[in-house]
Amino acid sequence: MIKNAQIHFNEMGTPVADNFDDVYFSNDDGLAESHYVFFTQNNIAERLQKHDQSHFIIAETGFGTGLNFLNAWQQFNNRPADSSVKKLHFISFEKFPIKHEELAKALAAWPSLTLQAKALCDNYPMALAGCHRIEFEQGQVVLDLWFGDVHDSLPQLSYQSHGIVDAWFLDGFAPSKNPDMWQQSLFNAMANLSRDNATFATFTAAGFVRRGLQEAGFTCKKVKGFGRKREMVVGTLDKANAHETTPPYYHHNNRPLEQVAIIGGGIASSCLLFQLAKRGKPASLFCQDDKLAQGASHNRQGAVYPNLQADNSPPSELYAHTFLYARRFYDDIYAQGHHFSHDWCGVLLQAFNDSKAEQHANLVKKAQWPTALIKPVTDSQASDIAGVNLPYSGLYIEQAGWVEPAELTNAIFNAAQDLAPTQSHFNTDITRLEQTEAGWYLHTETTNYGPFTDVFVCAGEHSDRFTQMADIHIHGVRGQVSHIEQGAESSKLKTVLCHKGYFTPSHNGEHCMGATFDKNTKSRAIKPQDNDTNRAQLMKFYQDSAFAQSLGDINSEKAAVRCCFSDHVPMLGQVPEQQDLIEAYRNLTNGKQYGFGKPSVPHQGLHVLTGFGARGLCTAPLTTEHLVASLCNEPRPLSERTHQVIHPNRFIVRDLIRNKIGV
Ligand code: SAM
Repeated sequence: MIKNAQIHFNEMGTPVADNFDDVYFSNDDGLAESHYVFFTQNNIAERLQKHDQSHFIIAETGFGTGLNFLNAWQQFNNRPADSSVKKLHFISFEKFPIKHEELAKALAAWPSLTLQAKALCDNYPMALAGCHRIEFEQGQVVLDLWFGDVHDSLPQLSYQSHGIVDAWFLDGFAPSKNPDMWQQSLFNAMANLSRDNATFATFTAAGFVRRGLQEAGFTCKKVKGFGRKREMVVGTLDKANAHETTPPYYHHNNRPLEQVAIIGGGIASSCLLFQLAKRGKPASLFCQDDKLAQGASHNRQGAVYPNLQADNSPPSELYAHTFLYARRFYDDIYAQGHHFSHDWCGVLLQAFNDSKAEQHANLVKKAQWPTALIKPVTDSQASDIAGVNLPYSGLYIEQAGWVEPAELTNAIFNAAQDLAPTQSHFNTDITRLEQTEAGWYLHTETTNYGPFTDVFVCAGEHSDRFTQMADIHIHGVRGQVSHIEQGAESSKLKTVLCHKGYFTPSHNGEHCMGATFDKNTKSRAIKPQDNDTNRAQLMKFYQDSAFAQSLGDINSEKAAVRCCFSDHVPMLGQVPEQQDLIEAYRNLTNGKQYGFGKPSVPHQGLHVLTGFGARGLCTAPLTTEHLVASLCNEPRPLSERTHQVIHPNRFIVRDLIRNKIGV
């Protein structure tokens, strides 16, 4: 659990950390100090003009008030118009995040940074451990804010060999006041994460810091310190090392993503389109229906909330962070004028039986999650929140709510169009994929399209129709939701209720309730008896509740197929070929992490994004961002363990490790 910083402001107005007894920045002029020590001494202005990548990556130990970040952002905005760098990526680690109100107070001292400071405060995340990806300037400035001890966070970063960082801001309170941070393991991890010619700058001139960085591989030198300080230390790592946290069987291979095709028209397709467009990469979209969101994304009201377990397991971490990113992402799309019906009215998880109550109590006891994310409520608190009388206690997710999925899918699609043009092909049923020397071709019964360097299959339950997907085992689970007329009492409901199914506040005079579960079918046919099932289920839990008794008739319904995998986690990445992977990684069966072959990757450029189940509204924005960032060789927003959890090779790799595959 992350603890906030305890701070006060001294007589000069400078924030001071109580438990470290040290200032966040110089009493003299914090902004000038930040600029001199970190920006100038890393030679960043010059490096922003000409760089070997279109993005420049800074990493920092100790986010504090974010002053270094805001200064770097402002300097990035002031770079010359002909600069080769199009994007600033800032990764920062913070063990004790400053509380929101104190952040705003600290940053009010810098009038020249007012715009950036406001944007940061508006998006500053809750104290949840892990990586918060926050985007500014339409994605041209990206902040990966890792909450947690830098020693715990660094090994969680997901990266392949030869590093990601161009420049280090080695900040953190004075080594004498914060000896736990200034360790050799930190200097080694910095070297592991550094690219060729990465630099660092630090305000301290402590000899053991310089020697430690030298031992890690940096060439170091002392230079004049800021203001009255005599010395500080800077350095360079000439050659990146081969360290990586992602083992080869979970690699993503960088791709130029030149001609991109997307198959599917749901929330995952729209999010993917946007994440590509944000990077100036146009795509062609192929959808078998006459408009977007006719599959699993076509409910009238979809609940958006994270599926959290008591333990911070990889899937729980995935849901928590995808949820917070989804909120920022959807709010941004809306703020850009692409509107969709929604209400962040909260979601109440109801303890409708003993086993649910025990599950909830366990989650509260383990205290893995900040109460700003999820908190326990009694039945009377639940009733106050909901605006109707409820018989159960439960858990409340205040930032959650509902969206109209089809409107949302269209809004994201339109926002993507603003950034890069899309060629849309509706009523186009792709039945076959063909790989040729020139690239991928997409075939309908009568036409073909191509060539494409990359094809992303986001076709829900139809994703496994292509022969290349033979090793992907998706289950279809049909679900029907019913739309029921509001009553006088039910119209007062202010929040989404989750029991075994869900029940939304009314929208246009109707509530959405459901959904049924039909395993092993891919049929979207409507079943009248499913409406009875939905009503019966609601009445079973709320038979004595006035809101349920007040409901009118069921007027309509929608059925869809949620597609999922046996581990209930989505899958995003290069389409695997089982035999190929078995041959390359057969050593895993003997517990060996070496002696691997090189898989030939027969379907190079063919990617799958599927298995979102009923949770695509929560997981699609960040998982698509993770995939596109990986393919573009940019820092990844998901931790290594969550990267592995959504990787398409996971089932084969797990079977190899458990010796379940005959090799
Ligand atoms: N760069 C900051 C700014 O621009 O405002 C000032 C940083 S302040 C001098 C040092 C920061 O390092 C504090 O916010 C502190 O909580 C953080 N810190 C200290 N030890 C840490 C650790 N082990 N892991 C992560 N952050 C740490």
